[in-house]
Amino acid sequence: MSSGISIRHDIVPQLEQLLGPEAVFVSDLQRYSIDGVLPTAVARPGSAEQIPALLKIANEQNWTVVSFGGGTRQQVGQTIERIDIVLSTERLDKIENYDPGDLTIAVQSGARVDSVSTACAQHRQLLALEAPAGATIGGALAANESGPLRAGFGAPRDFCIGVNFVTGDGVKGRGGGRVVKNVAGYDLMKLMIGSFGTLGVIVSANFKLFPLAQQTATFITEFDSVAQAIQVRDWLLRSPLAPISAELINPTASEYLTNRAPRDPDSWAPEAPSQQKKRWMLALRFAGSDRLLARCRKELAFASPRDLTEAEQMAFWRAVAGFEATAIERHRNGMIFHVSAPLAESQNVIEAAQGAATDYNFVASTIARVTVGTLVIAFLPLAVDPPGATQFASAASHFRSRLSRGASAVVMRCPLEAKPQFDLWGSTPSDIALMRKIKRAFDPNNILNRGRFLVE
Ligand SMILES: Cc1cc2nc3c(=O)[nH]c(=O)nc-3n(C[C@H](O)[C@H](O)[C@H](O)COP(=O)(O)OP(=O)(O)OC[C@H]3O[C@@H](n4cnc5c(N)ncnc54)[C@H](O)[C@@H]3O)c2cc1C
Repeated sequence: MSSGISIRHDIVPQLEQLLGPEAVFVSDLQRYSIDGVLPTAVARPGSAEQIPALLKIANEQNWTVVSFGGGTRQQVGQTIERIDIVLSTERLDKIENYDPGDLTIAVQSGARVDSVSTACAQHRQLLALEAPAGATIGGALAANESGPLRAGFGAPRDFCIGVNFVTGDGVKGRGGGRVVKNVAGYDLMKLMIGSFGTLGVIVSANFKLFPLAQQTATFITEFDSVAQAIQVRDWLLRSPLAPISAELINPTASEYLTNRAPRDPDSWAPEAPSQQKKRWMLALRFAGSDRLLARCRKELAFASPRDLTEAEQMAFWRAVAGFEATAIERHRNGMIFHVSAPLAESQNVIEAAQGAATDYNFVASTIARVTVGTLVIAFLPLAVDPPGATQFASAASHFRSRLSRGASAVVMRCPLEAKPQFDLWGSTPSDIALMRKIKRAFDPNNILNRGRFLVE
């Protein structure tokens, strides 16, 4: 095998020969830089058929490749030391097949989540994939993230019914299928979803859609303590009510959802406290007929919630989905955790985050999806002195040490200089040996996203 350095000069001509000059570019590389590392070239295949050929040659030549969708989540993991090729899926943006009668859709991986959602909404159907503007189908699947709708519709693994992909060594693969009942190859599909582009390039995917609800209602109850809010959550879990979103929001996060005044993101000064004291908020969203919503209203009357108007609902849920972006916009040096924990541990996780954040001079801003056990927690440095790189590592380690073995806390974002100080993914999973074997089988020369993950 050739050494990466001597071959790199050949990348562009070889790519041009393979894909055509219109599919390769070396200008505007800044747009594709990841943690400040620029790629040598950007390849934009115009057809799915070009991807196996591209990966085969990259594999032979030891060119490192990063799949790139909208680029909204490229900061995840350790800094990649070298990027030979960014494989941008932007030209693979077609809806391949949409069968509204069957509630299924097949789309190429570079299609934008928002445009596919719009196409489905025209038929009063819902693609339950949530993602910020610009995010693509492939990126959303690779990151397997979910937002407030997870309570009602599950995570991408639950409603994606098939993926087509190409492994690191250029072999085409398929998991699942086009129909909802298909179960063959289900595990391969699950493997690709959430693998952050380390095992292969997702080329296209099929989804199960949901009918769009006639209407929704959102009820917000405020509490003085997390314990009181968790009591109502526990009641909800025992009740027949089935919210499509159920978010427990701590007082600092509720400040972010309501006080959107601009702020210098590099400032270390504490934010000016709002005039009104913020409290813990439990926000529940239900979807369905007038009758169903009336029943929810009646059952929840004991908690005296506020019933949001339609316009308030839209603004509120947009703010909840955009919480992470808002936190980082306002504090460029924030650290974002995605936590997954058993439901019985919700209160402990929230309190552990508050404790660890306070001990290391951060403030924890938390949104907890309390019927599914996932939490987005921002550690915001509010000290007048900027925190040192090791302070992020110490705060994370302290936080993780207070969680049970069944919980995980992944750092999705933190300042660049803090990244080498600690394991962003959390403790080494017990099945690491199996993960390494899978990685070797799918990407034998480790060309995909090299350096980002602990499985290498
Ligand atoms: C409610 C909600 C709010 C969110 N808010 C934020 C936020 O504020 N900030 C933020 O950074 N993220 C946020 N995310 C997460 C992020 O935007 C998603 O993960 C996004 O869908 C990624 O899509 P992308 O096209 O931008 O992927 P990219 O950022 O381009 O890539 C993400 C990962 O997927 C891999 N990848 C991309 N395309 C493919 C492919 N075709 N095949 C294989 N691997 C691929 C990449 O290599 C990379 O590892 C949010 C997600 C949700 C659900």
